[in-house]
Parts: sequence; structure tokens; C-alpha cells
Amino acid sequence: MSDTADSCSKTDVFDLAWVNRQAALGEPWFFAQQPSPLGSPYPIVFNDDVAALLDIDGDAARASGYAQVLSGNQVPPGAAPVSHRYGGHQFGVWAGQLGDGRAITLGDIRNSRGERYEIQLKGAGKTPFSRFADGRAVLRSAVREYLASEALAALNIPTTRALAIVGSDDPVYRETVETAAVMTRVAPSLVRFGSFELLFEGRRFDDLAPLADHVIEGHFPQLADIDDERDRHKAWIERVIELTAELIADWQAVGFCHGVLNTDNMSVLGLTLDYGPYGFMDSFDPGWICNHTDQAGRYAYDQQPHVGLWNLGRFVQSVLPLLSGVPDDAVAMGQQLLTRYRQHYDRAYMARMRAKLGLLDERDADRALIESLLRTMARDGADFTRTFRALGHVSAAPQAVDAPFVDEFADRAAASAWLADWRARLGQTDADDAPRAERMALTNPKFILRNYLAQNAIDRAAEGDTAEIERLHAVLRHPFDEQPEYEAYARLPPDWARGLVLSCSS
Ligand code: AMP
Ligand code: MG
Repeated sequence: MSDTADSCSKTDVFDLAWVNRQAALGEPWFFAQQPSPLGSPYPIVFNDDVAALLDIDGDAARASGYAQVLSGNQVPPGAAPVSHRYGGHQFGVWAGQLGDGRAITLGDIRNSRGERYEIQLKGAGKTPFSRFADGRAVLRSAVREYLASEALAALNIPTTRALAIVGSDDPVYRETVETAAVMTRVAPSLVRFGSFELLFEGRRFDDLAPLADHVIEGHFPQLADIDDERDRHKAWIERVIELTAELIADWQAVGFCHGVLNTDNMSVLGLTLDYGPYGFMDSFDPGWICNHTDQAGRYAYDQQPHVGLWNLGRFVQSVLPLLSGVPDDAVAMGQQLLTRYRQHYDRAYMARMRAKLGLLDERDADRALIESLLRTMARDGADFTRTFRALGHVSAAPQAVDAPFVDEFADRAAASAWLADWRARLGQTDADDAPRAERMALTNPKFILRNYLAQNAIDRAAEGDTAEIERLHAVLRHPFDEQPEYEAYARLPPDWARGLVLSCSS
């Protein structure tokens, strides 16, 4: 891959429609910050799906050696790099100012379809918010974020996206010595709950509205037209509550656990944000903790819906000054808005779970049917993904065979008993197997990013072989398709993978 490739020079490929809204808004929200050079960066992986969102020609980016630009070593003309100042509650405690300590946003663009995207280099060096840390990311965590964000996107779950990973032999010191990487993250906006919390905690109330309007104008066009400022902000806060409820329902429905749901990792656009020690569940365990550092299980799988509400509580508190100038009125309005979370979440969760069971209409008893399946799965440690997928392959006819569904359980009799209830429920409305099977295959994925699959790809990449990242990404791009040639990627995890632990340094 030569630097003199004649198709185009490095930066021509990144000669995008830079808008740089963050730089334009400036301090105290966004601070001009150039990336720090990375030693001899080399390409690791590049994602054509995300390149297309940015109007970047993937082949041209590869031919021009994208590593120079996406390491931060060469800032494209027209980009105005910044780091963002935010705070957050970490594990329930106000942590003060955090900010982009190792992420630098090159700028944001407007693509040919009028969509806005922020392009950020994660691991691009120190910023005013690095505190005592090095501003770098390691290859392991870059690969984990790349794969997870693309896996969730393919599952139709709102998330930040991954454009590329660039590697370097520069050492980075964590529990052991690792090598540096820069992951290019792409999202409409990376503003967080904590962005507002820091302003509130610092009593910078006048700085709330400009940031709220920056988000609304860029990403909530239907609300931007509301002329009355208080009405506009209130409508937006309501949307943030809804989007958060829907996002968490999405996670629950695929067995995804974020792992570090601190308020600085909560997007005001309802995107999955900041992938660290996340996990997709193998065996169903409602109290599953994917983050080894989280010993108390604050962010366990079954806590996520409550944490969503707690985090929204912190967010809504911080934007109370936008709701009313009279503190008591603002508090009453904020509380009123928050009471809607439970209802939004419940509706979103039940809709997803009914779809997973192939149910078309709503009955009061559906919740009990869903809970009884989950209890049976939990008792057996049945694999979350495989069990739902197998259900789609079972006929609703009363005398039909119970395989492959019951094969996922040790207690086959209990699984059969549940199937009888499910069949009785379907018999009331919908006995036709084929269309239901088709619907269920579009909501119950066959392929998820199991931890051991990610680990395999990381281990190979650390040895210089990046093919497994590409292969795994290719499988995960089509999680609902049968892809029989990739059957091995849908199997239960091997025994060695059961003891894998992940901590916050992921
Ligand atoms: P995270 O755990 O990645 O969500 O990060 C929490 C906070 O620590 C954020 O403010 C990050 O920017 C900061 N941070 C994490 N790792 C580093 C690092 N290697 N260098 C500088 N800041 C970091
Ligand atoms: Mg974070």
C-alpha cells in the first residue's frame, strides 16, 4: 500500500463536507485539540458500510493508506478537531469532570443525503481531559468496540458505529504491555447525559440551553421547529426518556449487557455508547454481570432497566433549569416526565418479547408466558440466543415434535410443558407456521458476538492476522440469516471460554 497511490492522495479521500458544528459551538463544551502522532500507523480493518454513510469510497481509502488520517497523524483539510467536556455519575457516585480523555473528534460532516455524522478518533492522544492517563487505546479494546458496534447495528439496535482500526507498535501500558490502536467511531452525535450533568453540577445553568439546542438542531429536526424554548426543551427531554427506554428494551431482547452504564456513557440520542467490558449472554442468567470490576452487580443484565431510570433521573435533574425558572415547578415537571419511563420501557420490552415468541396480538397473559419461559431457561442455563432461534423452528401444531427447542434444555419435560402453553396461546390466533417462522427469524438472531468469538479475533489480530476480524464481522453483518457455512459461529461456547473475565480496562 504505497503513499504515492495515484488514485487519490490520503486526504482527498477525506475531503468530506466538513461542517464542524462542535468546533463552532466551542468552549465550554468543545475544546480545540489536535491528535498526537502515533508511531508508524498501519491499517488493521476498514468498514465499507460506515464509509458509505460518510460518502467515503472504501477502495480509495484503502488505496491511499487511510492509516495516516485515521491515526490522527494527518488531519484532513477542513476538519476542526475538538475534545468534548463532560462529567458523569460512575457507579452511582458523582465523579466530577471526565471528558474526552482519549477521544478526539475530527469534526462532523453532512453526507449527500443530508445526514450528519461526527467522526471521532478514539485513542488519538492526550487532551485537557486525560487526567493522569495516556490518551491511548489498545488493540484489544479497539477490536471489541469495532465488532460490538457493528454487531448491534446489524441487529437494528441504535449504536455508535466503527469505520476503521489503525494499529501501531507503540507500547501502551495496562495490566501488561499492549500495543496502541486508534478506532474511528462514527455517530450523529456523541453528546452524553454527563455533558449536561457537568454544567448543572458546576451551576453553569446558562450553558445548558446552547448545548441542548446544538443537539436538537442537529438531531431532532422535528423538535427544532418548536418556537417556545421551554416547550422545545421539554419535548426533547421526553424524547431522550423514550429513546433510552427503547434502547434498553433492545438490549434486553438480545441478551446484551453494557457493563458500565455510568451516566457519562449514556447517549442523549439513545445510542449504545462506549463499549468496554460489555457482553452478549450465552447461558441465560438474569443476574449476569459481564464486568468483572462490578462486583456488586450494579450493571447486571436484569438491572439495566432500573439503571436506565436512575441515569435518566440524573439527566433530568441536570436539565431542570430548562423546564422552568421556578425550581419547584421544574422539579414537579421533571418528576412527571420520569414517570413515563416505566411505561415506555414496558411497552417497548413487551413488543420485542412478543415478537420473539411470534405473537401478533396482545393478551394480558403474555407477560406470564414470557416470564415462565425465562424462568425455565434460567433454571437450566439454556443459551439465550439458541433457545429463541430454535423456537422459530418449532411447529404450533399440538402433536408436532418439540425439537429443536427442547434440545436447548437439560430439563426437556419442563421445556415441553412450556411449549404446550405457547402452542395453546398461538392456537387462539395464529396456527400457520411458515409466516411465523419467517417473522421470528427476523427478530431472533442466529449469530451474536459471543465473547469467545471476539477473543479469538483479538488473539489472532495480536499475532498480526486480521482475517478473523473481517470474517467475524462478515458473519455478524447478517445475524438473522441462516449462513450454514458459518454454523460453527452459532455453537455454544467451548469450555475454555466460560472463565473469560473482562474488567473496566477493556
Ligand atoms: P471509559 O471507561 O472509556 O468510559 O472512560 C471513562 C473516562 O476515563 C473518560 O473520561 C475517558 O476519556 C477517560 N479515559 C479512559 N481511558 C483513558 C486513557 N487511556 N487516557 C485518557 N483518558 C482515558
Ligand atoms: Mg466512557
